[in-house]
Amino acid sequence: FPVDKIRNFCIIAHIDHGKSTLADRLLEMTGAIAKTEKNRQVLDKLQVERERGITVKAQTASLFYSHDGQEYLLNLIDTPGHVDFSYEVSRSLSACQGVLLIVDANQGIQAQTVANFYLAFEAQLTIIPVINKIDLKNADPEQVESQIEKTFDIPREECVRISAKLGTNVETVLRAVVERIPPPAGSVGDPFKALVFDSNFDHYRGVVANIAVFGGQVKKGDKIVSAYLCKTYEVNELGLLRPEEHPTQKLFAGQVGYIVAGMKDVKEAQIGDTLYHHEQPVEALPGFTPAKPMVFAGMYPVDQSEYPALRSAIERLTLNDSSVTVQRDSSLALGAGWRLGFLGLLHMEVFNQRLEQEYNASVVVTAPTVPFKAVLSSAKLIKGRRAVQKNMVYIDDQRVMMKYLFPLNEIVVDFYDVLKSMSSGYASFDYENAGYQAADLRKMDILLNGQPVEELTTIVHRDRAYSSGKAMCERLKESIPRQMFEIAIQAAIGSKVIARETIKAYRKNVLAKCYGGDITRKMKLLKKQAEGKKKMRRIGNVDVPKDAFISVLKRK
Ligand code: GDP
Ligand code: MG
Repeated sequence: FPVDKIRNFCIIAHIDHGKSTLADRLLEMTGAIAKTEKNRQVLDKLQVERERGITVKAQTASLFYSHDGQEYLLNLIDTPGHVDFSYEVSRSLSACQGVLLIVDANQGIQAQTVANFYLAFEAQLTIIPVINKIDLKNADPEQVESQIEKTFDIPREECVRISAKLGTNVETVLRAVVERIPPPAGSVGDPFKALVFDSNFDHYRGVVANIAVFGGQVKKGDKIVSAYLCKTYEVNELGLLRPEEHPTQKLFAGQVGYIVAGMKDVKEAQIGDTLYHHEQPVEALPGFTPAKPMVFAGMYPVDQSEYPALRSAIERLTLNDSSVTVQRDSSLALGAGWRLGFLGLLHMEVFNQRLEQEYNASVVVTAPTVPFKAVLSSAKLIKGRRAVQKNMVYIDDQRVMMKYLFPLNEIVVDFYDVLKSMSSGYASFDYENAGYQAADLRKMDILLNGQPVEELTTIVHRDRAYSSGKAMCERLKESIPRQMFEIAIQAAIGSKVIARETIKAYRKNVLAKCYGGDITRKMKLLKKQAEGKKKMRRIGNVDVPKDAFISVLKRK
């Protein structure tokens, strides 16, 4: 394919505005998939995406399209809409020259419409506004066109009105892609240069990298170098994604596709890396700014014997999601594990679900925490969250930007969800680090019959100490079995006890069932009881099962 017959574009939008549905129609119209009733978000391949009905991974599909008697190769990338995954969007944009910015004809411009618009605008891409869901009864495309004109300074005439669900006017979208988005720069005559913008780990072939070829060409058997590690590889396989892998002989400048080159270690295929021919070194592409994690949680194997398996699962999954940061960590209660950083709570939940579903891993995830840093933010609902207002700016008659200084700790749990529901999904929220601030924090200990449990010591704000101490005591009470003596569970700050629960004494008489006689049976039962005890940790005179730690530390 000559470069001038190639178009690379992303579909971006607020969540649920119809990106994946439009992708279905484009795939059908270009014959990439058969036209059936059953095509529902076919690019959402992951189980977690199907179950939650959201896209979390950008997906690439190459389409063949004839227009005015010419054949075109269109590379489409469907992207996630949720703010936690905007890192996926920025990466995908680096492989594109244009975007389809989808706006729901009923809901109009929403927070992530604005955020995604700016990502595309700053990357200097051609933006085609597409107003979707015009079939809805309350659709108001006129109004949405006015919003687009006013907010983004794009003439209303450039908007394309469609129904992705019914397929109405989708042909116009394809025409606009060919006519308005420029072909990629770069020529087949240049030295080979490609950007790795995503990668996956395959059990048999090792790393499968998604690449955008910026110059030259590459074929099977070529010796290529990854700029990051300066290691040389031989290309085993390459091809297009349609959206399934479709092996080809070569990939040329302007194309987007996949490549397998015998990279066996996940560390070898860094997202953002540059690939070139071993005889023709090129300057590395800028790569990507690392994502800034916002929410941290511990992850531990349920059983320490599963540590190596969990390690490799986490490594492989982070290859596919490079926005997650991983640090080794260990906890007295839960053993060796990791501390992972995520872009938000949904991101953390999705990662955990993928670990379980795609890697069969069972993990204990601790309650999310944040580094004790303060946060600058735009919001409402500030009361009770220890925030300080910094300033307020009216952007236009409908939009206001407010800045607050926030303890990050106050926003990790439910801030985003509450903000969204209070503002009917309209408010958007971003943050930057404002440095550490003094705060009225206390070290809270948990005591069992007067003995502190080191594993459960936490840092809490003074105003929250009572409720959090009480909750911990209650959870412990539920999960520590009765023992032969009474157990006092206390939460204390310094020497002051702020919450208490009591477990009454109880003797579990394992011998009750043996009516005298059978000594071997008695011995067996006693042994069993002793083994049960081994799994416990003894704090002072109290035996605490591992489950009790898990139930207190685990995210609810
Ligand atoms: P995404 O989050 O932007 O990828 O959105 P999806 O493609 O997953 O669509 C979200 C929901 O909107 C789904 O229930 C779709 O069936 C629905 N939807 C998408 N396009 C249209 C449309 O043109 N008309 C109507 N009525 N519903 C649509
Ligand atoms: Mg989607």
